[in-house]
This record gives sequence, C-alpha cells and structure tokens, in this order.
Amino acid sequence: MRWNLAVDRVPEAWFNVVPHLPEPLQPPLHPATNEPVGPDDLAPLFPMGLIAQEVTAEPWVDVPGEVLDVLRLWRPTPLVRATRFEQALGTPARIYFKDESVSPAGSHKPNTAVAQAYYNKQEGTKRLTTETGAGQWGSALSFASAVFDLECMVYMVRASYEQKPYRRVMIETWGGQVVPSPVDDPAHPGSLGFAISDAVRDAASRGDSHYSLGSVLNHVLLHQTVIGLEAKEQLALAGEQRPDVVIGSCGGGSNFAGIALPFVPDTGVRLVASEPVSCPTLTEGRFEYDFGDSVGMTPLLPMYTLGHDFVPPPIHAGGLRYHGDAPIICNLVRSGRIEAVAYPQGKVFEATVQFARTQGTIAAPETGHAIVAVVDEALAAKEEGAERVILFSYSGHGLLDLGAYDAYLHGHLTD
Ligand SMILES: *Cc1c(COP(=O)(O)O)cnc(C)c1O
Repeated sequence: MRWNLAVDRVPEAWFNVVPHLPEPLQPPLHPATNEPVGPDDLAPLFPMGLIAQEVTAEPWVDVPGEVLDVLRLWRPTPLVRATRFEQALGTPARIYFKDESVSPAGSHKPNTAVAQAYYNKQEGTKRLTTETGAGQWGSALSFASAVFDLECMVYMVRASYEQKPYRRVMIETWGGQVVPSPVDDPAHPGSLGFAISDAVRDAASRGDSHYSLGSVLNHVLLHQTVIGLEAKEQLALAGEQRPDVVIGSCGGGSNFAGIALPFVPDTGVRLVASEPVSCPTLTEGRFEYDFGDSVGMTPLLPMYTLGHDFVPPPIHAGGLRYHGDAPIICNLVRSGRIEAVAYPQGKVFEATVQFARTQGTIAAPETGHAIVAVVDEALAAKEEGAERVILFSYSGHGLLDLGAYDAYLHGHLTD
C-alpha cells in the first residue's frame, strides 16, 4: 500500500513543460515600459542561475549534486494508496497520494526553497528576502537558508503573524527573521500581494540581498516537478500504467505543477486544479496581464487574476489566497489541458476529517482542496461503476492548522 524509492532515485533532472505547451507562453512585461522583461531587469532580484531557468526551453534541466544531497534528507517521498479512504467512499477507484508532508517544513515547498538558496549561494548572495502567508513558504525558505548559510528575512501577512505563532517560531528556529506586513501600515491585516511588495522593495534596495518567490514563476514550478517524476516511477511499481486523473490544490500553482506537469504530454490523463471559492482565480478570474504584487512593483504576468488589489477573505487555507496564478498553469487552463474546480472551506474540512478518520493523517487545509476534489472523482467513478486511477498531491500536514480544525469541529467555520 506504500511505494518507497531508494535515496538514489531522486530525479537528477527537472522536467520543463515549456516545450510541451500547446500555445506559446507570453513573456512577462516591464511595468514601466510594457516591453518584455530581460535578464538585466531581473538581475537585481534573482541570481543568473534562476533567471536562466525562468526562460529556458530545454526539455530537461540538471539538478545540481549539492541540491540532490539536501533533497535526500527526505526524498524520495512515499507514494501511498489510500485504501481505507477508498473503502469509506465505497468507490471502485484506486486512490494514490504523493506524501509531500514528510519534508522538514511539512510541505512541498522546500523542493524549490533548497534549489533557490543553492543558486543564490553560488552567486554570492548573502541574504534572501521573501513573503509568507500562513508561514509555509517562509519556514521552507528559512530551513533552506540555514542549510546554505544565508540570512533570511520573511515578511509575514500580519493577520497570520498575529494569529499563527508556530510557523513564525519555525522560521526563527532555523535562524530566519520575521516581521509583520505591510510594514508601513500596522492597522492593515495584510495579504500575500502586500508582503511580496515589502520583500521586493527590501531586496531591490540592498546589494547583498536577493528576493525569493515560493510559487508562480517558471523556475519554481520546474523545481517542483520532482514530485510528479517520482510519482510516475512509483505508480509503475504499483502496477498502474497511468493515472486517469491527477489532482492538486492550487494557490500560486507550484504544488499543482509539481504533481501534474510531468503528465502534460501523456494524453488521456486528466489534470484537475482545485482552489477555494473565496479566491477563485482560475475558475472566475480574467485572463490578462497583471502585477504579481499589490503595490505594482513586479513585472506584469499573463495570468488569470482577480486583480492585484484583491484582498481575499481570511480563509484557513492561507497558502491558496493569491490573486493570480502561475503563467504556465494559466496557459494550460486556457488551452483546455488543465481543468479547474473550486470548493468552499466547509466541504474541504468535511473531506479532510473523513480522510483523517480513515487514513489517520491530518492534512493541511490547502491539501484539503485536493482531497475534496478526489472525493468527487471517486464518487463519480462509483456512480459510473468505473475503475479509475486517481493520483493526488498530499502537499502538507495540518498539525500547525489545528485552530482551523477546531473552528470546523465546533461549528465556527464560515464559508
Ligand atoms: C503553499 C501550499 C499549497 C499551495 O501551493 P502553490 O504553489 O501556491 O499553489 C498547497 N499545499 C500546501 C500544504 C501549501 O503549503
């Protein structure tokens, strides 16, 4: 019921989906000139190693040995068949999940944090700045910064900073510094968009610092493809030729990309991205160029967006509260290769609680958006009386989200 790979099976190259896109990817535009941004525009914020990955059309990109060494602290992650969950749903579907919750920070995010810290270290960066919502990304980058001996400065959405102390403590335990954002407005609850503005402004103003983004950008999605590449190998070990459907929750798109992009060339494999109804970027956003942050400092990205000044309601899946989405994911949604669905958080917690009571583990609310979509797929298979192989990303554990479970279990959760 569980397929583990040996430590030497961590993929040695990342999968680049760009050559497989049905429509060409539109370039990011400079906010002042509306011209495509070039490497020089990005150099104040990112190391050249990552800028090269941002624009590459090579089908595979080698993973440096030093990065592999760190990933091997927890990778390859297990592939697990959720048989008890299947039985509870009474479905003929076979449900597999890729367990990214076993990383040091408890989510998929260290897969790119480690790579980003490595390329920055290589090129002499001393200090990284970043934003974080509930703290998942900030804690992942703080861990990766500790490994490569970099300083780490995290701008944390103020509402989370005040309500969710434990991820802040993780950031500090790994040596990072964390402050509430927006820094210049102590009465504002904050949003990811504002925290990105704070982190970009900091990095741009200092010669020793670079900025690091936890999702959305092409190189971030690239780094996450180890998830799907390992899963392919593990599904084969489990005797499956291919999944019928691959499901992941989608905030900025890196988790979904990690599990789904390696399957893009495989015709017949449906790819389903699941998001909150309260921040319905892919299902209700407009496709247009918009800023990545709230203040308007970043390049304009071609994406589905709710508007860069959209401040989502304070739902518990903090990692899914972003006004836009990765241009690569948006491109594939637009061309019809990826399907998008949205769920209210009450249904999400119903599914995560059922999962916990059968499989045991307590999922992050973000991960719950995948689980609830899995339930719908499994019940559809039951209705049709059809076998179906479902693969999903178990993107993180919910052990630091118990306040949200408390609210759900005691009837305080609103949709
Ligand atoms: C951040 C996060 C997500 C969403 O990741 P994106 O790359 O922003 O889509 C999903 N699950 C968990 C556990 C997360 O921490």
